[in-house]
Amino acid sequence: MKNLLRFLLLFLAIATIAGCAMRPSVLPSPGGISLQDICQQYNVHWQFDAVTQVIFLEYKDHKAKALVGSTVVLLGQQKIILNAPLRRQNSTIYVPDDFESKVIGPFGAVRSRLGFRGDLSNLKVHTIILDPGHGGRDPGARGFGGVKEKDVNLDIARRLRGLLSEAGLKVIMTRNSDEFISLNERTQIAAKSDADLFISIHANSNPVHRTEGMEVYYVKTHDRRDLDEEQRQKNERIFLRRLNAKASVTLQGIVADMMYELKVAESGRLAMRIVHDAASDLEVSNRGARHCRYFVVRNTLMPAVLIETGFLTNRQEEKKLNSGEYRQKLAEAIARSILTYASSS
Ligand SMILES: [Zn+2]
Repeated sequence: MKNLLRFLLLFLAIATIAGCAMRPSVLPSPGGISLQDICQQYNVHWQFDAVTQVIFLEYKDHKAKALVGSTVVLLGQQKIILNAPLRRQNSTIYVPDDFESKVIGPFGAVRSRLGFRGDLSNLKVHTIILDPGHGGRDPGARGFGGVKEKDVNLDIARRLRGLLSEAGLKVIMTRNSDEFISLNERTQIAAKSDADLFISIHANSNPVHRTEGMEVYYVKTHDRRDLDEEQRQKNERIFLRRLNAKASVTLQGIVADMMYELKVAESGRLAMRIVHDAASDLEVSNRGARHCRYFVVRNTLMPAVLIETGFLTNRQEEKKLNSGEYRQKLAEAIARSILTYASSS
């Protein structure tokens, strides 16, 4: 009797534990990962036809077709059989766990490290100029521990280039080594390119050593003196030549004005987006989007910002900026904010 009682108690205990463990806290998904999530991670473009229930996948030259409710995927001409069928619940399509290796794998797509959750298929930005500040005989700011701004800027820009390229953007660097490039040359590289954005990367300094945080600069207004500046006019001529515009002086003036209007409005939006998103991502103090008259920001024709990533004169920030791990986080936060801007209308 005693044994039977003990057995019953044990049985009840196991049943209760098992019951708790098996009770789902949320509604069960029909199994697998959402198609939207996986395509976003790999930047694979997808479309769903609700009438035929066919899913079209595209990545560079690769194409695939899948059907909701079926285990068959057509990868080009090749037929692939998945472990389980694709399923649809409400508006979400779920794929089985071998979808990633059997379908996305052969595309040669690389998983983006960014975790960007927006839509990359319809960006308003295609080419970006990254301008690592200083270089060569111009070291820029210097920290107490000897960290040179030119090195920090170049490393962040290189990391950013990797992340933005992975997201499908074309990236042009004004310098990719420790060399001196004049400010004029930097803006000419931009004028000769088909870039939509110009992003200059810097690290800050301040005689008040406790000053810390991130700030992003942009040009808000131009006075006549700025518009008549020699390098700006030269860049406008390069730009118009590239457009093949055999235009009159008046028409050239109109084009330049339009470019200027667009530049001012978009530079402000981009600056605010970067400093707001990146500062909160990195949990550093947000010193805001600020107006400036810096040469590279003033004399480029496309929307342009200058990011001051942190203060090398602040011991804590110098230590952080000297760490590859932090520079990677910085690059990721900036890349996400640029992509958020680029995917907004
Ligand atoms: Zn600088």
